[in-house]
Amino acid sequence: MNKLLTLALLSTFAGLALAPAAARANATITIVNANDPGVGFNDPTPAAPLASNPGTTVGEQRLKVFEYAAAQWGAVVDSPVEIFILAAFLPRTCTATSGVLGSAGATSIFSDFPGAIFPATWYPAALADKLAGEDLDPTSADIVAVFNSEVGKTGCLEGASWYYGLDTNHGPADINLATVLLHEFAHGLGFQSFVNTSTGAMPLDQLDVYSLFYFDHFDALPRSAYLTNAQRAASALHFRDVVWTGPHTRRAARDVLDGGSPSLQLESRGAGERRVAIGTALFGPALTTRGVEGNVVLGLDAAGTSLGCAPFANAAALRGRVVLVDRGTCTFTTKTANAQAAGARAVIVNDSVAGGPPPGLGGADPTITIPAVRVAKRDGDALKAALAAGRVQARLAVDPGQKLGADERRQAMLNATDPVQPGSSISHWDPLTTPNQLMEPFINDDLALEVTPPQDLTSELLRDIGWFTDRNLDGRPDFPGEVVRNPRPSR
Ligand SMILES: [Zn+2]
Repeated sequence: MNKLLTLALLSTFAGLALAPAAARANATITIVNANDPGVGFNDPTPAAPLASNPGTTVGEQRLKVFEYAAAQWGAVVDSPVEIFILAAFLPRTCTATSGVLGSAGATSIFSDFPGAIFPATWYPAALADKLAGEDLDPTSADIVAVFNSEVGKTGCLEGASWYYGLDTNHGPADINLATVLLHEFAHGLGFQSFVNTSTGAMPLDQLDVYSLFYFDHFDALPRSAYLTNAQRAASALHFRDVVWTGPHTRRAARDVLDGGSPSLQLESRGAGERRVAIGTALFGPALTTRGVEGNVVLGLDAAGTSLGCAPFANAAALRGRVVLVDRGTCTFTTKTANAQAAGARAVIVNDSVAGGPPPGLGGADPTITIPAVRVAKRDGDALKAALAAGRVQARLAVDPGQKLGADERRQAMLNATDPVQPGSSISHWDPLTTPNQLMEPFINDDLALEVTPPQDLTSELLRDIGWFTDRNLDGRPDFPGEVVRNPRPSR
């Protein structure tokens, strides 16, 4: 068995005290209060009791929210081994307008323990214990969670405050702690890759169980197929192309995710068909299910640029076509209005700055009647090269069967961005996911306190990595009459 400590434990660990109430359901998740007397969970500042949280001090109310989130997850995951979350409220990096709310993760990772499903694969401590049927390291907690005690005080996210209710009756400026905790505890339970997204390095050169369900459409490879750190680092930049292949999540996505994703499909003789990431426009008509189709033509002005800021010199070639222009010099509405004047059906704006996914197109112009979208420079430059080689047809449409935030096979997209965002890339869903999901990189205000379908995919991702292999939430087998194992990725 291999074990690796991934996070330094809090210095106050030696003074830990067990919290009074542990959640007992399918798993017992116990909050271990690591705060010193007088601060954090022990803050004696009086607090008005809330309808859903009867605590009478700030510290008590905080602890009750932690116990609530532990109970929620305890009712969903299944383990014969008690799960310990070492928790504290402490000052974190903060300015008046931005700051770290908190973070959580596995304290340690294990591989090749008795009961491990995949060999030579890292598992977070809580899941490793569950699969092993014993606490593999009784001397340390499984998850560590540290939250910012300064939120709302002078110099730290002024104007915001933690909401300690166990419901969603928070005010517009409140940060719902229960929601944040459900999110962070999910990371600790295994919604987390241990591969360094910046460098591609793996702990002791070994992949983690999360990464076994990672597939990159851009490279057409699973993460396990990459041979070098550089390849793994490059793959993490492939926005809208990195997806989660786990079968439980994929099955649940049918109910959880909304259909109707706007899409740009490009088809060329040599390269075949490809779906390209787009940002949609605030002006002009929305994309429709009927769609707009046409051959792509590069819009050229008299100066030979493709900025689209002056009437097009090749206007005759643009009639009935989809016009490709470059971002820059003038507004998106000006470019689109010029294309519309030339009789174009739609506009594709190629970003001038590398990176992605592409944001939308801002602006307002009620006279615009054709749709416009933005593509990343990576894809726009590839489109130009394809045009130089031959004919390319574009189709811009909304596909009602295409889930928002998933690929054609309903595999949810992981948050891949260029440049990489350490701490956010890969270990979250793509923010495109609709309706908003608990495990997007930002806590959206409209989240319910849900972690299971039909509202949320989080429990299903945990199921894919090895939670619930013995029993489902409803006590029935995954598929009637069938024993289902997680697919073993090729390595
Ligand atoms: Zn997160």
